Amino acid sequence: MRQQADQDWTRLLARRFREQSRGGALADILALASETNIITFSGGFPAPETFPIDVISELTQRLLTDEPAIALQYSPTRGLATVCDAIADRLHHQEGLRPDDDELMVTSGGIDALALLAKSLIDPGDVVVVEAPSYLGAIMGFTSYEADVRGVPMDEHGLDVEALSRMLAAGLQPKLLYTIPDHQNPSGRTLSTERRTALVALARKYGLLIVEDVAYRELSFTKGRCASLWSLAPDVVVQIGTFSKIFFPGVRLGWAAGPSQLISRMVEAKQNSDQCSGALGQRLVEQYLREGHLDHQLGLSRRLYAERCRSMMNALETYMPAEVSWTCPSGGFFTWLTTQPGTDTTELSHRARTVGVAFVPGTPFYPDGRGVRDLRLSFSRVNDQETHEGIRRLADLLKTNPRRSSE
Ligand code: PMP
Repeated sequence: MRQQADQDWTRLLARRFREQSRGGALADILALASETNIITFSGGFPAPETFPIDVISELTQRLLTDEPAIALQYSPTRGLATVCDAIADRLHHQEGLRPDDDELMVTSGGIDALALLAKSLIDPGDVVVVEAPSYLGAIMGFTSYEADVRGVPMDEHGLDVEALSRMLAAGLQPKLLYTIPDHQNPSGRTLSTERRTALVALARKYGLLIVEDVAYRELSFTKGRCASLWSLAPDVVVQIGTFSKIFFPGVRLGWAAGPSQLISRMVEAKQNSDQCSGALGQRLVEQYLREGHLDHQLGLSRRLYAERCRSMMNALETYMPAEVSWTCPSGGFFTWLTTQPGTDTTELSHRARTVGVAFVPGTPFYPDGRGVRDLRLSFSRVNDQETHEGIRRLADLLKTNPRRSSE
């Protein structure tokens, strides 16, 4: 079957692909999804224990019996009207604001929403600002449209809004700011209430579009939360959400809510990507929301992830050398480690694999190659015993053979 490779097909690659590859970092993470002989702190995978299998199977059976002509058919590009309605109702309940019909669309997960936005807005060379560090899928999404992605520093209260303000005052003209205000990927940090207010004021002053990714918003370990940026300023914010972390990722569904001028362009952009999101999954989500199952699942998920986060914090306290520091998230899936000066976490990740541990090194989370001694640990899919064992092995590597890099 395999013929002699005398052709170099990579010569056909588009310029943006040749120049902007991030080394398949996301594909590497997904490849670990089904690995069983490795303790994986990699990937933002929800715990399979949270998947509501009985409810999904009962709902699916019902949809197949009662309405195959809807559930198995193409859907409108914007999403099935009843599904949009259910998502809008939930947003109203959660955020105190209901998007109009033309301000909301269904997407094939958060990543689709990001790709549609990038496709609609980004010309080569356009400046996009992101938190440094930020979700690497978003950085890849923007760079694949040849954006000039710049990082804004963060601290324990999230994005440093004053630093952004200084960048804008100095003349930087980004097309958009991408931010994950709640339990951020990768740092686990949450943007403070004061900064949220300051950020939307800044966006209004400079005509800056804010893209708010709320992937982990509902997975808080504590009661009470800050207002979403979209609810504070729907005139300057597009909110991107996903059902991957709170329902199950296999359904590949999410939403975008924002100014109708932008949502309508994203709907147009979707017509020549996947054309519409799967109707069966959409109807599943709708029934799941309407019948109140999501709130039940969220209760279980929050408790489980809070417990796993506690295990992770305990294990880090117990095993890590003194110079290593990490964030203490109040929700979500991740903690962000800063290792000893001189450590190269990409090199460390290779050594970790030889002792059966996986994590994601820091550099892909920065647009500019920083993060050499940082790394992301996900606690969402590992139990207490695995967490302790994996962190012990990782700490041993950090103690015994820290390789000095030029950082
Ligand atoms: N946004 C953030 C911050 C994420 O962490 C992820 C998944 N890791 C996504 C979006 C995309 O998720 P999906 O496409 O599965 O909805």
